[in-house]
Amino acid sequence: MTPVITAAFKSWADVSPLKFAKAGKGMKGDITIGFFPRYHDDGNPFGAQDFAHAYLPEDGRLHYNANWGWTFDPTKKGEKRKVDVQSIGVHEIGHTLGLDHSADKSAVMYPYFAPGMKKRDLTDDDKKGIKALYPE
Ligand SMILES: [Zn+2]
Ligand SMILES: [Zn+2]
Repeated sequence: MTPVITAAFKSWADVSPLKFAKAGKGMKGDITIGFFPRYHDDGNPFGAQDFAHAYLPEDGRLHYNANWGWTFDPTKKGEKRKVDVQSIGVHEIGHTLGLDHSADKSAVMYPYFAPGMKKRDLTDDDKKGIKALYPE
């Protein structure tokens, strides 16, 4: 698992009772993550503007749109027009855990994002959401 995906899971684990571990060899994880072309196996093709999509529990599928240029750090030279894997990861993992979109513009779960942006840190609104779903 790439470190930015590990970090995206950690964001949610840090503020909830949830614990995440990589599935063992040959095991299917509760959450599966991959990059896919526009048309892929779920009957839900990506629109041109879609960065990714994910399904609510207990589906666990998180699909990145392979047609975008992706980056591990959009602040790096030459990466400004690419999409931050970690920011999208935190948002979409939120969906796999059961969170819907937030109306709070600063929240990771707010449904707007653009290439070059970095939005990795959970806000109080995100934390309130996950704590409501998974109380300590
Ligand atoms: Zn899909
Ligand atoms: Zn979303």
